[in-house]
Amino acid sequence: MDNTAAKNWDNDHFMHPWEGMDSLGNNDRTFVEASDGVYVTNDKGDRLIDGPAGMWCVQVGYGRDEIADAMAEQARKLAYFSPFNNTNSVASEFAREIAKRTPGDLNHVFFTTGGSTAVDTAIRFVHFRNNMLGQRNKKKIISREKAYHGSTYLSAAVSAKERDPLWLDKLTNIAHFLPNVNPLMRRADQSIDAFLEEKVADLESAILELGPENVAAYIAEPVLASGGVIVPPAGYQKRCIDICHKHDVLYISDEVVTAFGRMGHWFASKEVFDIQPDIITCAKGLTSGYAPMGAAIFSERLIADVSGQHGNGAVFSNGFTYSGHPVSAAAGLASMRIIEKEGILEHVRTIIPHFQDRLQGLADLPLVVDARGMGLMGCIQCAYDKKRDSDLERDYELGARIDAACQERGLILRPMINMCVMSPPLVITSNQIDRMFDILEDAIRAVDSTRG
Ligand code: PLP
Repeated sequence: MDNTAAKNWDNDHFMHPWEGMDSLGNNDRTFVEASDGVYVTNDKGDRLIDGPAGMWCVQVGYGRDEIADAMAEQARKLAYFSPFNNTNSVASEFAREIAKRTPGDLNHVFFTTGGSTAVDTAIRFVHFRNNMLGQRNKKKIISREKAYHGSTYLSAAVSAKERDPLWLDKLTNIAHFLPNVNPLMRRADQSIDAFLEEKVADLESAILELGPENVAAYIAEPVLASGGVIVPPAGYQKRCIDICHKHDVLYISDEVVTAFGRMGHWFASKEVFDIQPDIITCAKGLTSGYAPMGAAIFSERLIADVSGQHGNGAVFSNGFTYSGHPVSAAAGLASMRIIEKEGILEHVRTIIPHFQDRLQGLADLPLVVDARGMGLMGCIQCAYDKKRDSDLERDYELGARIDAACQERGLILRPMINMCVMSPPLVITSNQIDRMFDILEDAIRAVDSTRG
């Protein structure tokens, strides 16, 4: 396929997420033009296994007629109408279906346009509630190093990608960041148990130092996804929620990546980590990536605090033109039905051990410093010098080199600095997992053999 014209349009006009300013206008990005099942096809006609499921989102795989048909039918019937004063039955039904699958009393679904706006909505609601309860100083949000919660001003304020502050301003009065919870970064003489105690103590000390009367919420991805699939030590999430609730701090579980099957359950908070959050944020897998949509889901208790006899004429004046978009809701409902009909959650639970075994099998390869993951999420962190005490976060182009070598062999990954991330569509089979890791192994050896 001749893409010369599109390449020019792309370079001249399409400003991409995380656009690098040195290369702007001069990029040679791979065009992904077609898809089927767990594969995408690039402009050279190569059919590649989709390692990151788009971007942690294409749960049921590509080319699903059921979703395309549901979206088309909805667009013909009612493409859009305002959700502010009116409503539509497909979004109402989707909200009910989501609420049926959330843990406990998380029954109130605020639809957004994606994950960042879901996080914004969650934080704005927490501040709104505290104002209504007369706790006007209780506003700080505790987050963690390496967390990613979005790209709006507010969701970025609680994110901690360390390259951001070099060039982008940040709201500095909102968030407090806890140190990295990655067990890889623990001191050489520190046991995992001691590391867990330290990380839990970090949270409690922060709440006490800031003053519980000033801390509104703690926001945490159960597994830090974009930070490099960082899996905190076992039991960390449960210990943290207990501390939060002891000090009257709300727990926001950011499940933008982990919900809708990636950990083998609709939501990971309760089923995998045994926590009952006050708020869950989700997006991505909510519609299997077929249409943009996110949601902030609130507990009955939080809603009761600000409504009915406690309403006091207040309006939660937060909302989006596309909140509850009917076409996105139709996509989400269709995706949910596929997950249920095909037993995809059970399938994921069955294949997780094989995926994680193959991932661990990469740990001893050259260049690989750490192979880590959980559920159907994995990451390899690489360095030219594998020594435990070397700077494990340098070698910026290594992830991209491994991804390029994979693409030549039939697999596309998500390179992130010196890491590569895997989170394939949930319908991936055991044989396809083998193929994926065989290619990755071969690619790592090839990159190692050509090191400069
Ligand atoms: N929260 C988490 C945990 C994410 O991984 C992301 C995106 O990667 C977001 C929020 C932001 O979502 P979006 O890009 O849909 O705005």
